Amino acid sequence: MSLVTTPTRQLAVCASCSGTRCTSISMTLTDGTPVAFTSCHTCEQRTWTQGGHQLDVATVLIKAQKHKVAKAA
Ligand SMILES: [Zn+2]
Repeated sequence: MSLVTTPTRQLAVCASCSGTRCTSISMTLTDGTPVAFTSCHTCEQRTWTQGGHQLDVATVLIKAQKHKVAKAA
């Protein structure tokens, strides 16, 4: 997978197909990291970015994970 990371204005552009039919939302992960989530309507690629840097989905999942508290018995 070779991604050409071209900073593209503020428009949400799909990192996969370069399409602009994207939905972009900003949110804050459980650990306080502000991220932007972009979902492409063309190829269904979902991209997470933090400050312009693309994040691994795995990374996001870890950051978004709620600290599961084993049933305090
Ligand atoms: Zn796409």
